[in-house]
Amino acid sequence: MSIAANLAEVESRISAACERAGRQRDEVRLLPVSKTKPPSAVVEAHAAGYARFGENKVQEAAGKWEVLHEEYPDIEWAVIGHLQTNKAKYVARFATEFQALDNLGQAKELQKRLEAADRTLDVLVQVNSSAEPQKFGIDPTDAVAFARELPAFDRLRVRGLMTLALFTEDQAAIAACFDRMLAVQAALREADGGGWDELSMGMSGDYELAIAKGATCVRVGQAIFGSRGDTADHWWPGVTS
Ligand SMILES: *Cc1c(COP(=O)(O)O)cnc(C)c1O
Repeated sequence: MSIAANLAEVESRISAACERAGRQRDEVRLLPVSKTKPPSAVVEAHAAGYARFGENKVQEAAGKWEVLHEEYPDIEWAVIGHLQTNKAKYVARFATEFQALDNLGQAKELQKRLEAADRTLDVLVQVNSSAEPQKFGIDPTDAVAFARELPAFDRLRVRGLMTLALFTEDQAAIAACFDRMLAVQAALREADGGGWDELSMGMSGDYELAIAKGATCVRVGQAIFGSRGDTADHWWPGVTS
């Protein structure tokens, strides 16, 4: 199937999931995740009507931005994976959105680099909703205290939360992760008197469930661009974040 056909299929599943949940289609944005795929795949999805793409490794994203930005100035980038603080400078240069904020050192470095570039950045705070020790993201119980520090960083436009659910076939266990995110969002809204509207949750395997649970952004890679297969085939091989 072509990328355009896959996008149409994912769109129709998103629409159906919204309808089942009694939600409007425009409450959910689809963020196609183009990681490991070549710039030509991004161009194909752009031709099908998409202009913002998710990448989990900042240098890969920067590489695609460099290849594409002159010919396609409307294409925007969302960095959705863990960021080492020393790579904040790349994000500040080209990204529109960063979905994986999880420590204040990062926030401070992003603020500094964004000031220098005279830019702002939409930010989601990553929450570890599955309690797996190897996962990035803040602990749900730390969210309110973490959020209290963020207004100091005025170049960061804090929009909401992002998570990766447990990677499992167990739908109840995935749903429990999404429920934990709703609880964190409610606690933050109570502390702040509102805001925190964005909930980025759901990937190729669980985006319909995420929509049922209230996701406002689903990050879908393989269901659109095909399996990522052997790393030797990757456009940007061997880079670790
Ligand atoms: C790769 C990735 C996705 C997309 O995963 P698929 O299974 O390809 O849909 C979503 N979010 C993050 C943070 C990712 O790294």
